Amino acid sequence: MAAEIQIANLVKAYANGTKALKGVNLEIEKGQCFALLGPNGAGKSTMVGILTTLVETDAGSFSIAGIQPQKDAASLQKVIGVASQENELDPVETAENLLVFQGRLFGMDKALARKRASELIHTFRLSDEREKKAECLSGGNKRRLHCALALMHRPRVLFLDEPTVGMDPHARAKFWEVITQLNREQGVTVFLTTQYLEEAEKHASSMALLINGQIKYAGSISCFKNLVNPAGSLSLDESYLAFADSMKADLSIS
Ligand code: ADP
Ligand code: MG
Repeated sequence: MAAEIQIANLVKAYANGTKALKGVNLEIEKGQCFALLGPNGAGKSTMVGILTTLVETDAGSFSIAGIQPQKDAASLQKVIGVASQENELDPVETAENLLVFQGRLFGMDKALARKRASELIHTFRLSDEREKKAECLSGGNKRRLHCALALMHRPRVLFLDEPTVGMDPHARAKFWEVITQLNREQGVTVFLTTQYLEEAEKHASSMALLINGQIKYAGSISCFKNLVNPAGSLSLDESYLAFADSMKADLSIS
């Protein structure tokens, strides 16, 4: 059976000449919680942008749930949800209204959109913010709202680009409870980027390491740790740094 996300030879250069992706191949099986790791500027958000049809590629192809964007972009957009790093929220709309509009955009009637919005407000503990304008939300609450927006239409593949930046420890724990439940109980495939490697280690089932637009490792987290340190006592964080040293690449996180 085909992988849930299949990526073949993706290449992307921006207009200013920056080569963000230099031929990326990856396969992610259905039901995985997959973490794309790598330093700032590695090309992670570019990849999320391409896979969610927000950024155009120069070469290569991909499919998600068997759907190719060039053949059926509308169907593809229905099966994916995305909380991207640069999501703009309409500053003067309330959190609740933004959720309801999102539901309407995906074809829900008003009553259904309101019901689903209420569920997600409850799930992401946004009850105190529901009437607040987006511009008045704290950074962490904005990230929670981004995630709730991404889930309004019950996507089967969820993209989360550095989702927990700015969340306090309680919000982060609750966030992972929600995502883990979606992943394990509802089989939602999660494609995550994060700089919090302990988070990836705890919650992801597979990973890839993207450096300077190229995949340097793809597979399970335990195999990565084993590859770096066969004696086997390093955390993912320590393994990542050791791998960087061994490559003599600059992986400093600015
Ligand atoms: P990451 O998410 O891993 O930090 P990005 O995908 O955001 O990396 O960026 C990859 C590279 O592409 C970086 O060198 C970045 O400066 C560049 N880049 C990203 N977006 C643009 C853009 N819109 N125009 C020009 N260069 C960009
Ligand atoms: Mg990024």
